[in-house]
Amino acid sequence: MSEINLKTNIDRFSADLLDEARLFCDFCADKEILVEAFIDDAIKAKIVVEGKEKVFIGNKPNGDDLNVKRLTKRFLKVSLYDYLSQLSGRTLPWGSLTGVRPTKLAYDYLKLGGSIDDVAKYLVDVFRVSERKANTISRIIKAQQRVIKERNNCVNLYLHVPFCDGRCYYCSFPSADVNKNKTLLLPYAEKFAEEVEKVVSIIKAQGKEILSVYVGGGTPSVLTPEMIERILKPIKNENCEFTFEAGRPDSINEEKLSALKNNGVTRLCVNPQTLNNRTLEIIGRKHTAESFYRAYELAKSFGFDVNTDVIAGLEGEDLTDFKYTVDGIFELLPENVTIHTLSKKRGSVIADKDMRLFCDDIEKMTDYAYDKLVSRYEPYYLYRQKNMVGNLENVGFAIEGKQCINNITVMEETVSVYACGAGSISKIIQSGKINRHASVKDVKLYIDEFDKRLTEKIKFLSE
Ligand code: SF4
Repeated sequence: MSEINLKTNIDRFSADLLDEARLFCDFCADKEILVEAFIDDAIKAKIVVEGKEKVFIGNKPNGDDLNVKRLTKRFLKVSLYDYLSQLSGRTLPWGSLTGVRPTKLAYDYLKLGGSIDDVAKYLVDVFRVSERKANTISRIIKAQQRVIKERNNCVNLYLHVPFCDGRCYYCSFPSADVNKNKTLLLPYAEKFAEEVEKVVSIIKAQGKEILSVYVGGGTPSVLTPEMIERILKPIKNENCEFTFEAGRPDSINEEKLSALKNNGVTRLCVNPQTLNNRTLEIIGRKHTAESFYRAYELAKSFGFDVNTDVIAGLEGEDLTDFKYTVDGIFELLPENVTIHTLSKKRGSVIADKDMRLFCDDIEKMTDYAYDKLVSRYEPYYLYRQKNMVGNLENVGFAIEGKQCINNITVMEETVSVYACGAGSISKIIQSGKINRHASVKDVKLYIDEFDKRLTEKIKFLSE
């Protein structure tokens, strides 16, 4: 892989500036880039790319040290973006943004007194975000504000089931193959049920309310109906938003759905990823488009709200393939649709592949999905990850009134999360600060050292 040779006189920003240059990786490969900052009565950025120099001048950053650092970094990144954009002749959908949630920038702007009607303009002017993406963020913030109320005494409960039937080729989650770890599933379910019971009793003792429950993984639907009954028993009467990931359509049947229905679950994730069978085989999913349709109908027959995930940029898919999936899902009209862009994660099967080979039409794909879905849905949450094809985003869409509160509050980090299970992370949010506690990832260790680790967890949640 070609290297970008970037030097700067402010070492603490070198990683951020390198990330910025990587946005133009084709153009910057093997080039020498120098970024120097000078602050006197103004801030100046001198940028030299292969001997060509340009100086950018801005207002002197002021405020406390943290603010000066933040504004200086922003100025250097945007200046570098502007110059690389000029030299390469390219603009990017998310402009200069790297490593930050666009919605967070919008909320920061509102906190400083900005108007919600000016959010899009702010993102375009300050960060060079395209108008299309900036308008999406503006729309999402408005949707979130309609749905989210002040939640002072609430927590989200997250239950993690780290088992899957095989591995999808883009996945890096620490999830055990249930076929190779059959003997661990029952002991895990038993300890897990014990932990859920204990954590729920702590929530009650603290006088807190459960805002939402989310059972994720992994593929929680690998659990048997008896295990589901046992684990969900302490929360079956919570009467709150209650989501269960049955991500692999081939992992559900009537008995399991009946157990979910009888134990408080209201929303089910049934994920096709694509409706093209050839692609499903390539990406290591064992189900077919037909089995997705069957699972979807079964889920609807039990009255669940359904979320379906779709991925843009899968290997071998062109715009026509992707449109076929989006159109098929649109016909079904599930309550939620999340359009993901494939991301290359360390530890996944595709970690070493050059993803630009996978897909030339990625922007056309996500634009198509957006334009199609907004005729019936509202976009309501968005996040970006590292190494996404085309450096794009994941967007959740919902029928109005069916937005998943858990998705919003977890993404925006506005509600504490009490988490159970191997590999889960609890987050206590207090006065804008977040304290985290990670449970051990290894399933066997989780079982073997259960008592000791539960004591640590209780201490963390009780502090
Ligand atoms: S089902 Fe989900 S967690 Fe399991 S391997 Fe596939 S992507 Fe990973």
